[in-house]
Amino acid sequence: MPNIIHYRNRCIGCGICYELQPELWRMSKKDGKATLLRAVKKKDVYVLELTRHHVQKSKETAEACPVRIIKVN
Ligand code: SF4
Repeated sequence: MPNIIHYRNRCIGCGICYELQPELWRMSKKDGKATLLRAVKKKDVYVLELTRHHVQKSKETAEACPVRIIKVN
């Protein structure tokens, strides 16, 4: 299964991921960073299995992140 990985510690809270894919992302009111919905924390990154339906758009979101901390495998 493809998955998406978020290196959340390095998030600058720009909100672009949320604007592009509100079905996968929220902006945290606590620390202002993006949160990948339903993701599992593994060490210091967050991982979510993607349905095929979300893969292409997630790649676009990863490219749009200004600090390149979203990866799609
Ligand atoms: S696009 Fe990147 S830096 Fe901006 S809020 Fe999302 S994960 Fe954080």
